[in-house]
Amino acid sequence: MNDVIIIGGSFAGIAAALYLARARRQVVVMDSGAPRNRFSLHAHGVLGHDGRPPLDLLADARTQLLQYPTVRFVQATAEQVVQQADDAFQVIASDGEQAQARRIVLASGVRDVLPPVPGLAERWGVSVVHCPYCYGYEVAGQRLGVLATGEMAVHQAWMLRDWSDQVVLFTNARVEPTAEQRAACIQHRIDVVDGQVSSVRGPEKMIDGVVMADGRVIAVDALFVAPRTQLNSPIAEQLGCAFDMGPFGPFIRTDEYQATTVSGVFAAGDAARTAHTITGAMADGAMAGVFAHQSLLGTMYMVDSTDGA
Ligand SMILES: Cc1cc2nc3c(=O)[nH]c(=O)nc-3n(C[C@H](O)[C@H](O)[C@H](O)COP(=O)(O)OP(=O)(O)OC[C@H]3O[C@@H](n4cnc5c(N)ncnc54)[C@H](O)[C@@H]3O)c2cc1C
Repeated sequence: MNDVIIIGGSFAGIAAALYLARARRQVVVMDSGAPRNRFSLHAHGVLGHDGRPPLDLLADARTQLLQYPTVRFVQATAEQVVQQADDAFQVIASDGEQAQARRIVLASGVRDVLPPVPGLAERWGVSVVHCPYCYGYEVAGQRLGVLATGEMAVHQAWMLRDWSDQVVLFTNARVEPTAEQRAACIQHRIDVVDGQVSSVRGPEKMIDGVVMADGRVIAVDALFVAPRTQLNSPIAEQLGCAFDMGPFGPFIRTDEYQATTVSGVFAAGDAARTAHTITGAMADGAMAGVFAHQSLLGTMYMVDSTDGA
């Protein structure tokens, strides 16, 4: 019997595994190999690693983790988790593996659902991006567009004025700014372009213009989009975990110990928070590892996460 199975072996999952490994616990990490920022060439805002390719960062983290003899890394998708009578869980993976553990950490992240605008998906993570903190510095002073997906778009356009004085908000029939918001946009010198966006264009993964349904082409050098997010895995739902709704999509409810509302199940990273950053995922993962370990001790810290469910 393993101590902990971690579902998702990226920033949150590896951080959890590292703490459990250092506590000399038997850990299995299952990972399907598709971290959310795999489309990006550089990861920013990560202390000591600013600008490194995210996949390099993860490869180093995995290599360091696998120095610990009690860790096993399984490259597979966890498809089902069955709660067993004897305080244990059985995880069934896509490669046929069936592993058992006394605790589960859900670190399987979220996926982005981009608006169905031709040209967006191909440029995602390079010139079509979502986060000014991750990418704004690199395009500061350039022509920045915001493609509205919901009410947050107006706020996003205002924020971007801190990175550039050439900001265009494309309402794309998704938001209707109030008269007050339109006046504020004028005051902040944000151009509001109404009407439907039909595609985006530019050489290879770069963008140079947003094509409107009426044929106009509005020049931009980068386009910010806040996609809806969906959990990568249905396992939290299968287990009966409670969820909360964030501005971009649902996330698994956890307490201050990263415990979910199902006893013995912890969650970390984008799947369990609203602000999505690598450092946030790593911090949650570390805490999930620590408290999954302490819950195994049975004395210092007992997870009774059914309280307040
Ligand atoms: C384009 C883009 C650029 C970004 N740039 C930055 C940046 O520069 N700086 C920054 O701080 N943040 C950035 N982010 C946010 C960052 O990517 C996330 O916050 C971070 O990846 C979250 O880590 P995580 O471990 O929770 O999830 P993820 O990194 O998404 O990892 C989840 C892992 O779980 C695996 N998985 C999913 N389902 C299963 C399953 N059923 N079984 C097994 N494995 C499973 C996946 O394959 C994946 O490896 C960016 C996001 C995007 C979309």
